[in-house]
Amino acid sequence: MKLHEYQAKEISAAYGIPVQKGTVVDRPEKIDEVALPYPVVLKAQVLVGGRGKAGGIKLAATPDEARTKAAQILGMDIKGEKVRRLLVVEAANIATEYYLAFTIDRAARRLVVIASAAGGIDIEEVARTTPEKIVKRHVDPFMRFHPYQAREIGRALAFEGRQLVEFATIAHNLSRVCIEMDAELAEINPLAVADGKLLAIDAKLIIDDNATYRHDGLPRNEELTELETAAKAEGLSYVELDGDVAIIGNGAGLVMSTLDMIAHFGGRPANFLDVGGGATTENMAQAMRIVLRKPGVRALFINIFGGITRCDDIARAIAAQPPAVPMAVRLTGTNEDEGRKILQDAGIRADVDPEAAAEEAVRLAGAA
Ligand code: GDP
Ligand code: MN
Repeated sequence: MKLHEYQAKEISAAYGIPVQKGTVVDRPEKIDEVALPYPVVLKAQVLVGGRGKAGGIKLAATPDEARTKAAQILGMDIKGEKVRRLLVVEAANIATEYYLAFTIDRAARRLVVIASAAGGIDIEEVARTTPEKIVKRHVDPFMRFHPYQAREIGRALAFEGRQLVEFATIAHNLSRVCIEMDAELAEINPLAVADGKLLAIDAKLIIDDNATYRHDGLPRNEELTELETAAKAEGLSYVELDGDVAIIGNGAGLVMSTLDMIAHFGGRPANFLDVGGGATTENMAQAMRIVLRKPGVRALFINIFGGITRCDDIARAIAAQPPAVPMAVRLTGTNEDEGRKILQDAGIRADVDPEAAAEEAVRLAGAA
């Protein structure tokens, strides 16, 4: 479960990590009640990254400006998420930006600390273009994160003197946040030097869903997009991604391998919907309407392995409302012949081989 910045900062502050003073507002008028010295920074509280670039973070020098800008950001759509709350903080006077995070290295089966003097920007980009600017150290699960490791990393980032001590303390405290909160990721980006002091400007915390029961008082954040909420209301399990191939399959395992196949052939899934076992013609029709409602979909891939689900039921839905975008269909299993016949009569071709169909879906999306 992802936490909002303000929630992650509340926890971080409780662990002794310095953060700016701030308050959360949900309406522009509430700015008047904010008791902070100006200038302030208004920060959209959404569970996606890159808010700054998307226009969700704005500096305001006066209360009037803050109210105007708050009205602009509230209600804004950032990567499919509506902004309902703003964190208003006292603006920091940033000199330099660093990156610091603890996360799980599944291959090494332990925590890893990642730090960089190239902070503030997308760390994946730094890792790709200038990997030498990233410091990575594993954390021993029994010894935990040692103060000497914190100082060693701090020196690698060229901190010295009082700032080295501050960095080591923050790093140590962040390791405690990560371990004690059962986090998959505890990230500060940027960790900034502002007026000579280290300060967490942004905070990101993802709690392991399997461990939320161990933490009383954790917020329950709904991470669903509008379409995901609509699908959930109709009892369908639908997940949104950011590619251009819409995917419908039956069964979680089949759907997961379908995503892998699309990626294998160089495509990018736009979303996926699992119609589950025993999907009716109506379920399938509904599924198609939902995945195709997502903007940016250039091809549809339907991958059905009929068991309790009958291929003829599926085919009837496809034949009744052929999509506006090109489509690749893989249909096999129960009542396959009937299903194939229905599609054929509607002028739609279906594959038996999932890989051939996946490759075709990727090709169609590329050509569209
Ligand atoms: P993100 O874009 O979602 O990662 O949001 P951040 O909280 O990391 O803010 C993005 C960028 O806005 C930071 O890297 C800073 O450069 C800038 N920023 C955020 N807060 C402040 C602030 O208090 N003072 C200054 N000068 N810049 C800020
Ligand atoms: Mn950030």
